[in-house]
Amino acid sequence: MNFIQTRGIDPSKPKTVTFSQAILDPIASYGGLYVPEKLPELGQAFLDKHLNSSYKVLAKDMLDAFDIDIESEVIDEALNLYDKFDDAANPVPVVKVKENLYVSELYHGPTRAFKDMALQPFGIVLSSIAQKKNENYLILAATSGDTGPAALETFKNRANVRVACLYPDGGTSDVQRLQMVTEDAQNLKVIGINGVFDDAQSALKRLLASSEFKSALSEKNTKLSAANSVNFGRIIFQIIYHIHSYLELVRQNAIEMGEKVYLNVPSGNFGNALGGYYAWKMGLPVEKIIISSNENNVLTRLIKTGKYDLNGCDVVNTTSPAMDILKSSNVERILFDMFGEVRTKELMQDLEEKNVYELTADELATLRTCFDADFCNGDEGKAYIKDTFENDNYLMDPHTATCFKSYETCSDPKIKSIIYSTAEWTKFSPVIANALTGEVDAEDIIALESISNTAKLAIPAMVKELFTKEIVQKTIINKEDIEKEILDFI
Ligand SMILES: *Cc1c(COP(=O)(O)O)cnc(C)c1O
Repeated sequence: MNFIQTRGIDPSKPKTVTFSQAILDPIASYGGLYVPEKLPELGQAFLDKHLNSSYKVLAKDMLDAFDIDIESEVIDEALNLYDKFDDAANPVPVVKVKENLYVSELYHGPTRAFKDMALQPFGIVLSSIAQKKNENYLILAATSGDTGPAALETFKNRANVRVACLYPDGGTSDVQRLQMVTEDAQNLKVIGINGVFDDAQSALKRLLASSEFKSALSEKNTKLSAANSVNFGRIIFQIIYHIHSYLELVRQNAIEMGEKVYLNVPSGNFGNALGGYYAWKMGLPVEKIIISSNENNVLTRLIKTGKYDLNGCDVVNTTSPAMDILKSSNVERILFDMFGEVRTKELMQDLEEKNVYELTADELATLRTCFDADFCNGDEGKAYIKDTFENDNYLMDPHTATCFKSYETCSDPKIKSIIYSTAEWTKFSPVIANALTGEVDAEDIIALESISNTAKLAIPAMVKELFTKEIVQKTIINKEDIEKEILDFI
């Protein structure tokens, strides 16, 4: 299968690229993104066939349907990483929380957040492409907390790949920071910046676009790439768990095969939701995809009004920081799928030039046949955390909690919902401790103990040991010095 571009083809560029090319260079010409030429049709037969398959067997067959230019042994090796999840037999447990409401837990991997679902296998795939081409890659990452640990974990000690990971010093949770600064491997460099996430993100974008930086790297025999969430190499692994979660409901006798369900997704850059949309198009029976946001509610406004408007908008810091995003990049792939390349280019140009685009009434109606949305503020989220713990004995993190509001406002309660849980309670413990007991400003270690006592849940060993591990990544610098620091590392 080859990949085409969401904004049409720049005459100086090839018409299509392979999967490997789309991975190594994820931004297409005209600034667009790569999408599959045609999604495979799996249909009902595929679901029937895999009703009792393991996660890995399901994943392998789905990836085979994409017919990508990655060797079968490499895909097997990549999928074997799901064996490192809490339960190798079922890396993604789906839990009934109350009547008609199920939670699919995407956080049972090494860094306790859903980024592992895609980044774990992605690391093997990218490293294998680099080895095959006999090239060295520098992967740049900027993180507000979850992508950094997951990227470091997946590329640690992998051949032909190095990672430089930028994070805002003081801008992540203790657990997230410790997950990064205790990573000990020759090919990893973690750089704290005196600044906020936006400073890290801007530095990353500047370096990715800088030809001077690229030629300085090329003198050191190194090419530049990014493991950001527009990379199709990540998206492809995010289709699988939607199919798996559906089949889990059938296995649990919660639904009949063929019955439609809601997929309710806590969304930021829209990779998770896009995976659900592709699964639907490939044959999964879906009623609607519900997009849940926090106070940064640009997606809710798009889906309710047809207007993607960033004028006068600033990112607000919330209790669900992985969703504090204004430019939700993967929406572009939905626009392309629904309205085609010419219209997508026009809309994205409007966004770049005027900070706003507006769908026509017909386009909005089309969008709304597939999506609905709502947003949940921090206090509402904390109330859902407390109520769901007290009434249903289920503990969730603040990202997952945003879905409980849209579940009430957007879905028909007679139809089953799958809510996607994107982080374990251990990753955002101060907010959860505050929701449960009212304690404020606790450090992570205190909040973890307090939740563990209240909820009678053990703190997982990999989280607990972070607090006693040696800190090996000690670099904290001003943003002006990032480029030099990275080149010194290479
Ligand atoms: C990344 C992330 C999200 C947002 O996912 P997208 O695919 O970017 O929409 C939500 N919750 C958590 C905890 C995350 O780490």
